[in-house]
Amino acid sequence: MPSPATANPLRFDNSYARDLQGHYALWQPEPAPAPRLLCLNRALADELGLDADMLASPDGIDLLAGNRLPPGAEPLAQAYAGHQFGHFSPQLGDGRALLIGELIDRHGQRRDLVLKGSGRTPFSRNGDGKYALGPALREYLIGEAMAAHGIPTSRALAVVASGEQVWRQHALPGAILTRVAASHIRIGTFEYLAAHHGPDSVRRLAKHVIARHYPALHDAANPWLELLRAVADRQAALVARWLGVGFIHGVMNTDNMAISGETIDYGPCAFIESYAPDAVFSSIDRDGRYAYGQQAEIAQWNLARLAETLLPLIDTEQKRAVQAAIRVIEEFPGVHRGYWLSMMRDKLGLDTQGRADDDRQLADDWFALLQRRQLDFTNAFRHLYDAACASGIERDQPPASLAASDDNEFAAWWQRWRNRQMQRDEILLARMCQANPWLIPRNHRVEAVLEAAQTGDLAPYNDLLERLRAPATEQPAATDDARPAPAAFTTTYRTFCGT
Ligand code: AMP
Ligand code: MG
Repeated sequence: MPSPATANPLRFDNSYARDLQGHYALWQPEPAPAPRLLCLNRALADELGLDADMLASPDGIDLLAGNRLPPGAEPLAQAYAGHQFGHFSPQLGDGRALLIGELIDRHGQRRDLVLKGSGRTPFSRNGDGKYALGPALREYLIGEAMAAHGIPTSRALAVVASGEQVWRQHALPGAILTRVAASHIRIGTFEYLAAHHGPDSVRRLAKHVIARHYPALHDAANPWLELLRAVADRQAALVARWLGVGFIHGVMNTDNMAISGETIDYGPCAFIESYAPDAVFSSIDRDGRYAYGQQAEIAQWNLARLAETLLPLIDTEQKRAVQAAIRVIEEFPGVHRGYWLSMMRDKLGLDTQGRADDDRQLADDWFALLQRRQLDFTNAFRHLYDAACASGIERDQPPASLAASDDNEFAAWWQRWRNRQMQRDEILLARMCQANPWLIPRNHRVEAVLEAAQTGDLAPYNDLLERLRAPATEQPAATDDARPAPAAFTTTYRTFCGT
């Protein structure tokens, strides 16, 4: 007789379905006519305790396509609301995704298993509930790259071509992405409950979130205020990590910000090339609300929306609740700056002995030089790492790739940086290497491999995916992937909400 684990390899424990009845719609995925497995994340399958060979078998592909449900699955569409570009939409929700269930991974962590693109749900509004292949592959690739940088993120377990066409401006191949995240609870989930169901429902959700993501707060004197502080802390850290690799999320609406502090909803995201705080690539972000350099401020704005939903829980007296919440929201810039400084120290190879203000100034002056010289963000930082590893003259003068020999301002900055570094420190160098990736998913390379994939050639996509798994390692065979895009590409590059 097979052991229970073999008979039911996906052991679900569906806490959201249990704890939040009434705030989701039980729903079934639409079958895909001719599912074909395109990507399978074997390492992630292993982490989840799943048998990758089973997932790659016809039965497994049927699971990944939503054509067959594993025992214990309780597919549901989560309800949520959200502030989109500053405007409240009271009714969003999973319009093209279904939470299939929750798994406990090998490390004892609870992970949502979601099918994205599995058809219409009660929250689809005018959408078709489908996912086009290109955006699905893009989400997979960028999620894996972020995970390889050590940035908290949702990840994809698989992409299956559905065998049907989806209609956007024209017909495109459709796909189903299996997404794994600590949870898919968003600021917008709190907003939904506050707007439609009131404080008791918000408390139910907050309790669920504390048990799931912030168990240390269980016994706090005011767990709801501490929850706000804890979510703010994780988002402050997350945005600092984004800034460190030049990532622009692109659509930081409150419904796209996860309470767990993971990056979710890879839609119009992109990476900056030359350093520019006002860099925007999203076709719908006309005012630059979600520009690279705006992201911390927007995270704070979003957290204020979360705070509003928690006010009745924080204190029965509204004035006191508001004052307490405002204090937390006002702490955010300082908390974020702390994470940012720590990230910048790693990138510049600095210890923690220097004065914070001096190190911040050193970093700010470096960014001013990057901007003035229009230097490539990723490669300029990597040159700093290379110089820090080198000895003698290569260490003492800025390389020609960064500055002309008569650029006195640059040379002066270089001296300050060198003086601050004092002696060679292997631990700092190792950190510097990780913090200054040799490879990021450059926009033009991502687009090129997606184009090939959509014409049936997955080889370039798979090659890039593999390279992105070791972003800190210089890979001589991949210098094309590490080169900046032609300027003409970057000035006209536009991204779209994952459709
Ligand atoms: P997004 O901007 O991708 O985060 O999506 C915002 C909202 O639109 C969410 O509620 C999505 O579920 C919904 N949505 C986006 N695309 C579709 C689609 N093709 N079909 C149904 N709902 C969609
Ligand atoms: Mg979204």
